[in-house]
Amino acid sequence: MSTHAQHHPPVTVTVLGLGPMGRALAGAFLDAGFTTTVWNRAPGRGAELAARGAHAAGSARDAVAASTLTVVCVVNYDASDAILRDEKVTAALKGRIVVNLSADTPARARDTAVWAERHGIRYLDGAIMTPAPSIGTKDAVFLHSGPREVYDEYRPVLAALGGTHTHLGEEAGRAAAYDIALLDIFWTAMGGYAHALAVARAEGISGRELAPFAQGIAAIFPPLFETFAGDADDGTYSGEINPITSAASTMTHVVHASEEHGVDASLMRVIEGQARRVIGLGHGGDGFIRVTDLLARR
Ligand code: NDP
Repeated sequence: MSTHAQHHPPVTVTVLGLGPMGRALAGAFLDAGFTTTVWNRAPGRGAELAARGAHAAGSARDAVAASTLTVVCVVNYDASDAILRDEKVTAALKGRIVVNLSADTPARARDTAVWAERHGIRYLDGAIMTPAPSIGTKDAVFLHSGPREVYDEYRPVLAALGGTHTHLGEEAGRAAAYDIALLDIFWTAMGGYAHALAVARAEGISGRELAPFAQGIAAIFPPLFETFAGDADDGTYSGEINPITSAASTMTHVVHASEEHGVDASLMRVIEGQARRVIGLGHGGDGFIRVTDLLARR
């Protein structure tokens, strides 16, 4: 029996935005047996979903009017505003539920929650932390924030999307705030990897040759994240194993080796500069993560 049978009347779902992620979300709702309506600004992106049984609405207004729950997944909040804040769409959403799974800043999420409240729309904000192919599988990761009772009521419906769902609190910007912090880790690490591949290539090492060792470096991170989180929270920053003076010197090696090959080392120069500022402030015996205090200083 599908989960929506527990609700009276049965929950129906609309997905607005049919990029790779919106299509994956709509596909998962269809797979779970929900009556699903889809809409996208540019026509044609819902053809495959329609062939699988989705209703393709002719307008965003008709799409939101068709269902009890609307999930929005577009490029950012300028896009979701352009859709939701259209007068006809806003009016049709009154009394219904919107879950916005588009990515943007915590401030935009909070602003949208205020807008929703003003228009009698029950609103949950959310973030998706895993790629489109993970949707509907155990690997998907969703973060949510907003009214607890709305989350609890619709948790069984969101379960159709698979994976783990975490409600981070009632404050609307909370999911986006976690999203930003996690994207920060992801993109700076990816920037480091792209740079490492460029330096390795300049030294005649292929990406495939480097990859197994790169994976070894990545495996060091999970326990370090745990330890450094405690250091940052408690202000302990022990540099016993690797003081920041030693860390900064290895960063200088990366800068020199890159620039000898004409490879832009600006990313590493920024990080090295932060480490040297910490040393200059008299904390050379501390660990690298002391940089957190430098950056967070008001
Ligand atoms: P994109 O981020 O490329 O967004 C494309 C969607 O946004 C399309 O539906 C597009 O409509 C719509 N859009 C853009 N501008 C407007 C506008 N002004 N008005 C109306 N609609 C607009 O696609 P994804 O599906 O990849 O991502 C959607 C969200 O999911 C993003 O916030 C992304 O960060 C997040 N996400 C995506 C992941 C992924 O693996 N793809 C992973 C984790 C999160 P049109 O076709 O008409 O241009």
